[in-house]
Amino acid sequence: MPLAYLHHSDCLLHDMGLGHPEAPTRLHAIEDQLISSKLVDFIRYYEAPLATRQQLVRVHHPKYIDKILSFQDQPGSTYLDPDTLLTGNTPQAALRAAGAAVFATDLVLTHQHRIAFCNVRPPGHHALSDRAMGFCFFNNVAVGASHALTHYGLNRVAILDFDVHHGNGTEEIFQHDSRVLLCSTFQHPFYPYSGAEGGNNHILNVPLPAGTSGDQFRQAVLTHWLPALHKFAPELIFISAGFDAHIEDDMSQFRLHTADYAWVTQEILLVADKYAQGRVISTLEGGYALSALARSVTAHVKVLMRLM
Ligand SMILES: [Zn+2]
Repeated sequence: MPLAYLHHSDCLLHDMGLGHPEAPTRLHAIEDQLISSKLVDFIRYYEAPLATRQQLVRVHHPKYIDKILSFQDQPGSTYLDPDTLLTGNTPQAALRAAGAAVFATDLVLTHQHRIAFCNVRPPGHHALSDRAMGFCFFNNVAVGASHALTHYGLNRVAILDFDVHHGNGTEEIFQHDSRVLLCSTFQHPFYPYSGAEGGNNHILNVPLPAGTSGDQFRQAVLTHWLPALHKFAPELIFISAGFDAHIEDDMSQFRLHTADYAWVTQEILLVADKYAQGRVISTLEGGYALSALARSVTAHVKVLMRLM
């Protein structure tokens, strides 16, 4: 069964300006690398639909959704936080990015695919229920997970976040919903300076210091994530797939290599095979060093496709 690959050209139109690291070229770099790695024969491409209001309101406040959508096709730009700029093209891109997670959930839970990867932006895991932050507008992975819970009636959904930043938005959205197990590794202290003190029996935060190596990251996953996942026995796994912990990525001080992303993906797949009928939906979060991002996503996708 090929991998479902969700994308949309609208995701390229969101542009926060020259020099901003969360740039449209990220998606091109990934797509180019997948093509040059000759993986396209194993991929089925889908255009991401727009998320609907009904799907967004499960995790975002109605007034916040209205606020974002009110900028649609408007001239000029507005800073929603010091590094999160919204233009007239942003709402459409954000709706596609969230819609990709929803459609991926549909494809996987109706047995059309077992594995999906959403090559979309803007990313989502910092987006709070009522606020944009950290390059994020709608919380894509949360919108997807809530679709699995609400529309399909799943009871145990895991979200695994290996982006170098704490997925504070995802934590806020699901902090009182024990149907979701959120496992997150992140550099601490570091933006957004949350997570180290938080957590509960279904929010598993693993703060790690600057300089964390691939081996230390792997040990954290083995020690913290895997026991929690085996206890939880997820019916479906989402990945907040950020690649900004890569040693070549200036965004952080972690020292992960492409092989570490392949390794963690393999571990996730083993859990998915055991409890979740092999069902994994991965959606892009961070990753700003274009070559490292593209190589890491390709390794991640190759493992998901069981080609390595
Ligand atoms: Zn990040």
